[in-house]
Amino acid sequence: MPILLNLVVLEESNQRLAGELAVSDLEFGFEDEVVQFSKSLKYELNAQLLDDSLLVTGDLALPIGCTCVRCLRPFQQTVSLKNWACHIPLKGEDRPPIIRDSVDLTPYIREDIVLALPTHPVCRDDCPGLTGKTSQTLRTADKSKSGGISSPWEELNKLKLKS
Ligand SMILES: [Zn+2]
Repeated sequence: MPILLNLVVLEESNQRLAGELAVSDLEFGFEDEVVQFSKSLKYELNAQLLDDSLLVTGDLALPIGCTCVRCLRPFQQTVSLKNWACHIPLKGEDRPPIIRDSVDLTPYIREDIVLALPTHPVCRDDCPGLTGKTSQTLRTADKSKSGGISSPWEELNKLKLKS
């Protein structure tokens, strides 16, 4: 189930939301060599209605499967956003669609989780890599020097800069 914020309910009082959001509802829409999604996202949020906007704050945690870019071993990691805050305008161009008095919070969560995903996951800081040396066989290029290589994160970053 997507996380829906009902504006009529919020007019009465602040809302506390806690639960799990299935990977299928997050709809990441891309696949990645080094990050796999299989588990639900856990959330504990408070939502409140301000003048012409919604403010949602709380904690998000998504366990992910990673492939170490040095040794290529799979490992688990949790992307957590503590004290996450999301401000949703209810007026103007950036206003989300309001369906049956409700705003879907899921796209906002998805966007910030994607930005928080590791681009070069490493199983441990001092991982020696495949040959004992630091050999990065996947994604060798550094982001800033990569030039032609494009990842979903870079695309997202570009979008962010434009807006
Ligand atoms: Zn490793």
